[in-house]
Amino acid sequence: MDGGAILARSLVDQGVEYVFGVVGFPVIDFAVAAQHAGLKYIGMRNEQAASYAASAMGYLTGRPAVCLVVSGPGLVHALAGMANAAVNCWPLIVVGGAGESAQEEMGAFQEFPQVHASRPYCKLAARPSSLQAIPLYVEKAVRTCTFGRPGVSYLDFPADMLSGTCPEDGIRWSLRCPAPPVCQADSADVATAIRTLRQAKKPLIIVGKGAAYGRAEVATQGLIDVTRIPFLATPMGKGVVADDHPHCVAAARSKALSQADVILLLGARLNWILHFGQPPRFRQDVQVIQVDICPEELGNNCWSSQCVRLHGSIAAVTKQLVSEAGGTSWQVPGHRLWADELKSIANEKESGRQAMERPTAPPMSYYQVFAEVRAVIPRDCAMVSEGANTMDISRSTLPCCRPRQRLDAGTFGTMGVGVGFAIASALHETDAKTGRHVLCVQGDSAFGFSAMELEVACRYSLPIIFLVVNNNGISLGTTQSLWKDMVTDGGVHPARSAPPTSLLPSARYEKIAEAFGAPGYYVQTTAELRTALQRAVKRPLADGPCLIHAAIDPLASRIAQEHNWLTLSKL
Ligand code: ADP
Repeated sequence: MDGGAILARSLVDQGVEYVFGVVGFPVIDFAVAAQHAGLKYIGMRNEQAASYAASAMGYLTGRPAVCLVVSGPGLVHALAGMANAAVNCWPLIVVGGAGESAQEEMGAFQEFPQVHASRPYCKLAARPSSLQAIPLYVEKAVRTCTFGRPGVSYLDFPADMLSGTCPEDGIRWSLRCPAPPVCQADSADVATAIRTLRQAKKPLIIVGKGAAYGRAEVATQGLIDVTRIPFLATPMGKGVVADDHPHCVAAARSKALSQADVILLLGARLNWILHFGQPPRFRQDVQVIQVDICPEELGNNCWSSQCVRLHGSIAAVTKQLVSEAGGTSWQVPGHRLWADELKSIANEKESGRQAMERPTAPPMSYYQVFAEVRAVIPRDCAMVSEGANTMDISRSTLPCCRPRQRLDAGTFGTMGVGVGFAIASALHETDAKTGRHVLCVQGDSAFGFSAMELEVACRYSLPIIFLVVNNNGISLGTTQSLWKDMVTDGGVHPARSAPPTSLLPSARYEKIAEAFGAPGYYVQTTAELRTALQRAVKRPLADGPCLIHAAIDPLASRIAQEHNWLTLSKL
């Protein structure tokens, strides 16, 4: 067997289903071998998008997908997705082709220290020691990227290893790596956690994307139902328990965080997304109960000495918490008052937002766009969201009702993930025969990072509704007339006069879809947007993507109380 065929069969043996990649030297034959072995190969237009798509598939399914790259620059492009997956704690396997091993250090074509360069982003970065050992390395790559805190494995294959052959009976085939071991927390710690929650005056549960990845939805909902403790979710923790659950206090987020005296953190880190757990966003004396699969995470950024550390698999530990809490609902009068207070603030904020959605003369605002989306798109539709204002505002205005429903720029805040994520999500929805479209909501700048990947979505007829919310810029855009005054007629070199945040105001993004045979709609009013969305959802899934370009007010922004994730101190 040749090395490519051994690698392909090893991946199949390990339950890998998808390879996302860009082919070239020396991996073309391997991609064909992968298809022959039964793997699905999705050819992307840039390794960055391939790495984003493969990592999203890993997050959505719990099994890693492969990102296949060519030597040198191919690997360098994929480092973006490796870093993104590592920072998000998502499983990913990157397979890189490399030059002939006999040419190492001789200045070979696309020569690059690939194993070395990958190492900072990986749990495992290795080159198999022989053709016969490839299956062992593949099993180790799957095990390493899925067990414990998920992350990235990199396997390096010189050209001569992919094309070299060995007798089949000398190959050391591996058994399939099982699902990660389920770890329970120490029962004394579980008892302490429940006692602490009962005694709290203002308890709060925060649901993170670790709970989504760890498929803890049933136990988490059970815990919230039994304890009636108010909860909110992080951006990708949304949907583990539906946003319209009566105990969800997402709209009163600032108050809930800053006043809670005990916080149960289910699969979320106290990083920038949760303001490092620090005042003034959190109380100085807040007690944190952390549940995490990664023991080193426990205690991280917990400023109070009294934090409770529950090490284990989130679904199992949450179940332990439910059983320790007892079968009947808690009736702690103080908790009830606290929950009611948060609910009334949440309702007030909701009405503030609804006011922003009321019809006005064009141009549209973000809020009006998302009100139309809410009115037309089914509430369980898979969703990808990226951009600055587009992502922030759509997060709070487009509710989630099921786990892993929503993907976004994540912990690394990576712009450019959207189209790759949408491709992975659409493949996942199609495989599961859910009958759902994927809605990919992007700002015009975010879309630009990977717009050519639209061709991939068209090539594989993926059911994605792309909605480009265009304000002509990054955070803040420019109107056509301002652009004309400042840049076209200004008499100064455009590189000196064009605002760095501005993009071309006359861009027509829907025409990119048309170039690949997909319908494109350009809309400027809420009525036009509604019609386009209605057409989009009526399209049969097999007809592939369409793109709606919604031109909004270039000066549109978020309402003041919409929280800004990056600030440390603004309440
Ligand atoms: P968010 O972005 O939602 O705040 P983070 O990515 O910061 O979430 O945190 C997710 C946490 O979940 C990580 O610390 C990771 O170790 C943890 N995690 C991932 N999978 C599991 C699991 N199966 N069980 C417990 N914790 C998990």
